[in-house]
Amino acid sequence: MKLKNKLYISFCIMVILPVLLSGLALGGLYCVQKESIERTYNVDDGAILVGVYSPIILFGKITDSIYKDMKTEVDTSPEQFTNKEYLDELSGELSSKMSCLVVRRNGIIIYNSTEAPDSEIVKILPDYSADEENVSDVGTYKGGEYQSLIKQLNFKDSEDNFYSVSIVTSLKQILPQVKTFIMQVIFVIIMVLIITSLGLTLWIYSSIVKPLNKLKLATDNIKEGNMDFEMPKVSNNEIGDVCRDFEEMRVVLKQSAEDKIKSDAEEKELIRNISHDLKTPLTAIKGYVEGLRDGIANTPEKQAKYIQTIANKVNDMDKLIDELTIYSRLDTNRVPYTFVRCNVSDYFGDCCEEIGTELEASQIELEYNDHLTEPAYMNVDPEQLKRVVNNIISNSVKYMAEGRQGKIKIDLYDEGDYIHAIFSDNGIGIAAKDVERIFERFYRTDESRNSKHGGSGIGLAIVKKIVEDHKGKIWAESVEGEGTTMHLNLLKAKDEENPENA
Ligand code: ADP
Repeated sequence: MKLKNKLYISFCIMVILPVLLSGLALGGLYCVQKESIERTYNVDDGAILVGVYSPIILFGKITDSIYKDMKTEVDTSPEQFTNKEYLDELSGELSSKMSCLVVRRNGIIIYNSTEAPDSEIVKILPDYSADEENVSDVGTYKGGEYQSLIKQLNFKDSEDNFYSVSIVTSLKQILPQVKTFIMQVIFVIIMVLIITSLGLTLWIYSSIVKPLNKLKLATDNIKEGNMDFEMPKVSNNEIGDVCRDFEEMRVVLKQSAEDKIKSDAEEKELIRNISHDLKTPLTAIKGYVEGLRDGIANTPEKQAKYIQTIANKVNDMDKLIDELTIYSRLDTNRVPYTFVRCNVSDYFGDCCEEIGTELEASQIELEYNDHLTEPAYMNVDPEQLKRVVNNIISNSVKYMAEGRQGKIKIDLYDEGDYIHAIFSDNGIGIAAKDVERIFERFYRTDESRNSKHGGSGIGLAIVKKIVEDHKGKIWAESVEGEGTTMHLNLLKAKDEENPENA
């Protein structure tokens, strides 16, 4: 998943999940504590709900049952309110309901279970008269610093003493269940927030840090030169994209490092080959020169032969150096091509005419078949393409089989986008194992090495480079002992480039 989407989802979860979980926890805890309040204080569901926003009503309700019992007691045996034991028992019950008991007789406090001294408690208790039986069933609220709810029973005993029994409930306190509820809610909210953010952080962490660690491992490997270290698979997000790009870069780097090793090796081989190919004629020249100097060539005929051989070897060297120069210029793209639109039939026709005259001297037959039915054009550098044709033909001449009439055939075909030129000879042919390699620089087959004809193994490398620079293709087919066929594909000029077809 994309990192952007993950962040978006995690933001939504961060907002929604804590609210949902906290809501659920709040509901559950409320039910538990509500039941506990109902059980402990004997109050109904409605009173608790009201108590949430009006604690006075809830505090009033929790002493209701005791207040009712006291009322019955007033009617049946009011003298009980002078009985210390009874009053202690009553105040014990009230203290579990978070309330205290105060009893006054004729205005004087005779029992006080509150923590406040009599002088203080008297200030908050409502006045009473024997006429009023009950001050209020609900209770009287005393605000200010006292914050108390007082339920009071006023009555007269048989001896005409005025009694006032008060239940004092301080509103400054909180029900233990409410306290627990608040603590639990705070705890749950904190836990939900911690768990949600921890979960989401881990989720995001795993999609950022894990792939970054893998990337770091890969860069460390590359730094140490280990180009074979493959980047492990990573998630499909933005960092994953970077990792995949990195892997592609590693492959390219590895390839270029391998290419560099290969080209270094090729360069060394090239130098070895050049030295070898120059050394061979030089050694021969040295030998013949020494032969002349030491008088081994003691007849004018021998001397002339030695000099001719020296001249031939010098020519070979000159040719080799020329070929090397051309190849090196082509290889480093220093040959400026001048592409010209040519009529294919005209171009190959002219070439064959030239070649034909040269071949006549070597008594080799040349057959030229132009199979084009319509005029076709190609964009080529005529001079460089001539080098290609001449090289192919000169090889055919060089590697002609002895003892049979040499034949060279050139066929020209129109094949859609390409012109297909086929050069076949009936020469010595090339072994199957060598056919693929003859276009490599300095590659020569064993037969050609042993032949009397000189050669550098560079000619076909030059041919291939020129053809490829023309966006064409060249390949060879050969049957050893029967002959060789060279196939040359050249791109045709597009119709719109061809004024005659327009
Ligand atoms: P070289 O200077 O040796 O001719 P080339 O690059 O022109 O170098 O050719 C490479 C090798 O391919 C030759 O040495 C020869 O063995 C083989 N070859 C090329 N053309 C022919 C052909 N027409 N017949 C037989 N062998 C050929």
